[in-house]
Amino acid sequence: MEINLISDTVTKPTPGMLAAMMKAPVGDDVFKNDPSVNALEERVADFFGMESALYFPSGTMTNQTAIKLHTQPGDQLICDKYAHVYNYEGGGVSFNSSVSCKLVDGHRGMMTASQVEASINPPDFYHSPLTSLVCIENTTNKGGGACWEFTELEKIKEVCATNGLKYHLDGARLWNALVKKEEDAKKYGALFDSISVCLSKGLGCPVGSVLVGNKTLIDSALRIRKVLGGGMRQSGFLAAAGIYALDNHIGRLKEDHQKADEIGQVLAQQPYTKKVEPVETNIIIFELDESQISEKDFLDRLAKKQISIIGMGQGKLRMVTHLDYTDEMHAVLLKTLQEIS
Ligand SMILES: *Cc1c(COP(=O)(O)O)cnc(C)c1O
Repeated sequence: MEINLISDTVTKPTPGMLAAMMKAPVGDDVFKNDPSVNALEERVADFFGMESALYFPSGTMTNQTAIKLHTQPGDQLICDKYAHVYNYEGGGVSFNSSVSCKLVDGHRGMMTASQVEASINPPDFYHSPLTSLVCIENTTNKGGGACWEFTELEKIKEVCATNGLKYHLDGARLWNALVKKEEDAKKYGALFDSISVCLSKGLGCPVGSVLVGNKTLIDSALRIRKVLGGGMRQSGFLAAAGIYALDNHIGRLKEDHQKADEIGQVLAQQPYTKKVEPVETNIIIFELDESQISEKDFLDRLAKKQISIIGMGQGKLRMVTHLDYTDEMHAVLLKTLQEIS
């Protein structure tokens, strides 16, 4: 039995999802004639109470499109030093939009409103890049699946409004935050200029992300998606997986969170564990006490039980729970973690 905890993107479509995909009505989405894609876009827009949505092949492309639309070349965006848009999108902010990032030294990938405010360049000081956008991430990936306090997000919105800045939410795992905090998605829709959500992570789809915003923004996003090569044809087969996931896979994220919490607790009890970051959703980030076991030996011990996890550099290791991580696998993992001691 292979136990893959490298990411929540390793899932394969469930039989129910595959059946929904097989019977999807499709058309050519580049002509906006795919009924399944259109239905998914309407569904996600409604979910957030926003005007419009556009289906994309990846979350990198939704984020990059939003950044392109909210900025002009030479501008600067503000984000946390852990941000996906800065660390993991191949330098896309400079490649696609010719903008730079002002990095904020936040806590677990989250900044405060006063940190954001202090990072804004004075708009009349023409020597500095013009600040035009704030990007935040919920849940934070490199921050270990941490969820924001909504009140802080509101305070940042005020800073954006006062200073004429756009406000983008990288919500690749926003579903996890909504479930964990029992929040209404429409609160997020009312706060942000754009939201990117991934269907290919916790929700278990093979492909797909959606960008949500007002009609003007999403109309313009269509052109950027085209430029980036993200126009797809009979993508309704994939969009149908998204609709199925929205119907069936949101509530169950609780189970992923529960299992992650248990893994965190077991790890915290082991003598070889130096530190476990607080587990809030489905990501566990921890460090080993190298005087007890080296990273290589630890990973080898797991590999012997066909368990894969991932290193994040700087001595940090990561596990992510997901739809294909079963109760049976969970039992084997917990037992293995205890036996390594
Ligand atoms: C995974 C992820 C994305 C998008 O990644 P793709 O692999 O391009 O879909 C964006 N932001 C965060 C925080 C992510 O974890």
